[in-house]
Amino acid sequence: MRKPIPFIDLAAQRARIRPELDAAIKSVLDHGRFIHGPEVAEFENQLAEFARTKHAVACASGTDALILPLLAWGIGPGDAVFVPTFTFSATAEAVAVLGATPVFVDVEPDTFNMDPDSLKAAVSGDLGGLNPRAIIAVDLFGLPANYTRIGEIATENGLKVLADRAQSFGASHGGVRTGKLGDAASTSFFPAKPLGCYGDGGAVLTDDADFLQILKSLRVHGQGTDKYDAVRVGLNSRLDTIQAAILIEKLKIFEDEIAARNRVATRYNEQLQNSVSVPTIPDGSTSVWAQYTIRSGNRDAIAAALKAEEIPSAIYYRAPLHVQSAYEGYPRATLGLEVSERLSMEVLSLPMHPYLEPDAQDRIIATVRANA
Ligand SMILES: *Cc1c(COP(=O)(O)O)cnc(C)c1O
Repeated sequence: MRKPIPFIDLAAQRARIRPELDAAIKSVLDHGRFIHGPEVAEFENQLAEFARTKHAVACASGTDALILPLLAWGIGPGDAVFVPTFTFSATAEAVAVLGATPVFVDVEPDTFNMDPDSLKAAVSGDLGGLNPRAIIAVDLFGLPANYTRIGEIATENGLKVLADRAQSFGASHGGVRTGKLGDAASTSFFPAKPLGCYGDGGAVLTDDADFLQILKSLRVHGQGTDKYDAVRVGLNSRLDTIQAAILIEKLKIFEDEIAARNRVATRYNEQLQNSVSVPTIPDGSTSVWAQYTIRSGNRDAIAAALKAEEIPSAIYYRAPLHVQSAYEGYPRATLGLEVSERLSMEVLSLPMHPYLEPDAQDRIIATVRANA
């Protein structure tokens, strides 16, 4: 029997740090401060340091980490927020759930990220009376979006930039690893993300101390200095102490895991580049490889061949948001969304995690090459 190849190997990571995880969880059970115990603030400090930002605010999920900054900026009905259509639904959902309008923008074929030209056209296009307020740039599959150009468009048009870094925490753009890109950055600790916990969790990163205070109030029902004095309408969106304790242990090995993910990606790139379209990393950027995603006109045949070899693969995303029933009624960039529509038919994500062994990777590579 050949060893099964997992798509993401959380068990290998767990085995690596099991005693530390057990001790961390036990310590929370012992002290009993399950909500906003000391591990939460400790983790927030370490997370901000890792991201090279001044502040981090932990919350209940990556989706809430998108909603909280939008709420803090007062975004709601009548407002337009520009989002890529080639992303997970949560990006647009955070806008729509506040009563604001997501406006769908196309992506670049080589980076899978928001196309600044499509964004520019959408911002200056007819918004039917909506008030343009913000851009959510998504760092798809672990690679930061083009924050340089997106930032210029935002400045010219007085828009906020929210960085959806659910898949890219720890990556860099313009030569710096930073959570600073954009006015605020959101991340997710969903178990399958590069930095995941054992349940739901998320965080917002910011350099702005006043904004930090608003986010901290919003995540606890909009409380003021007194717990029973609500000064704004907020949410219940806290990160559990146990999850913070787990994340403290995972953050210790995260740098090493990012390096391992990059070794796996480099090996895929070298051996697959003559057979399929492999991901491109722009100069000055790094990826944390939440996914390793190839493009091929033979996508379905490759996926079937992998399946026959008992090798898992996944399609992120089978349909862009603007064709999904919940989102098909929202406005679209004037230049169209053809790239996203084409990508959804060509993309295939291969097993990617820091613990992928070379012999397992060779089996994946051989199967892709034989069917490309
Ligand atoms: C996972 C993800 C989210 C949502 O994170 P949750 O923690 O699952 O709520 C948002 N945006 C993107 C791009 C994601 O991949």
